Amino acid sequence: MDRVKVPLPGMELGHVNAYVLRCGDGYALVDVGIATYDAAVGLLRGLRELGVRPWEITRVFVTHFHADHSTLLSLLSQIAPAEYYIGEAEFRHVASDFDRFLSELFSEYLRQGVPKDLVEGAQKVAPMVRFKKAFEEIWGLPWRLVRDGEGLPCGLRALWTPGHTPGHIVYVGDGFAFTGDHILPKITPNISYWYKIEGYDPLGEYLRSLSKSRGLGLGYPAHGEPIADLDGRIREIERHHEERLAEIEAILAEGPMTAFEVARRVRWDIGPFDGLDVYNKFFAVGEALSHLVHLEFVGRAESREANGVVYWRRAA
Ligand SMILES: [Zn+2]
Ligand SMILES: [Zn+2]
Repeated sequence: MDRVKVPLPGMELGHVNAYVLRCGDGYALVDVGIATYDAAVGLLRGLRELGVRPWEITRVFVTHFHADHSTLLSLLSQIAPAEYYIGEAEFRHVASDFDRFLSELFSEYLRQGVPKDLVEGAQKVAPMVRFKKAFEEIWGLPWRLVRDGEGLPCGLRALWTPGHTPGHIVYVGDGFAFTGDHILPKITPNISYWYKIEGYDPLGEYLRSLSKSRGLGLGYPAHGEPIADLDGRIREIERHHEERLAEIEAILAEGPMTAFEVARRVRWDIGPFDGLDVYNKFFAVGEALSHLVHLEFVGRAESREANGVVYWRRAA
């Protein structure tokens, strides 16, 4: 199996891995890249170096909808039609009404105490907004919606791993797995609170998804190098979230506060909150919020709404 490191200009991750595997008399791709000029040239050049012509790609497996993984399909689908696979829940919650998804996302952050100028700034830089046109094009493709446990072409099997996004799919092969953004080698995947789904606890979902991802063999993540000890990496990520849950619970001991105020007090690996750019601040609030929601689910925190703003505190 081969991969093309598709550039991600302007993003700290640097690249997204598009994995290339032989499948029948053609090729399959797992994730494709973001809809920019640099990414398009990078993908096409990488394929040429591997001796793969774009029209020989007959199947594309997308791990999740994020712009850096999916939107370059807007170009690829113009070159040659293929079969396109994505998680069923991704389609149900995100693609079916993208405008509503976006407006609910931003109004939820206002409700969680994020200042209006930060929400407006995030609306300008968020990939979901910047690549809206490409998203609208790819949502129109004839997707095959993938369900948990389903057997797929190219010797793959779907493992539904909600958490990073609601419909994230890990594509499992014989002794290896394409882990997408579900398990990454260097950074802990961002677990954000996206919007209100009744009874939705993204961090809880994520932790359950981690425990069902054991024993898959070699991990091929969407960013970075292959993960030899996938189970060891899972344990590290679990430990990280346990520590962060304890940290946030301790922060709440100061008294009731908004998710935004919690995010400002967390010791982020990438530096203090106030020094982060708009994009990372937004991610940090989402991360704090998903931990708060999980603490509430397990009875360790409580939330109360007053004048349209949500305040969190330790459970009595
Ligand atoms: Zn992602
Ligand atoms: Zn990603």
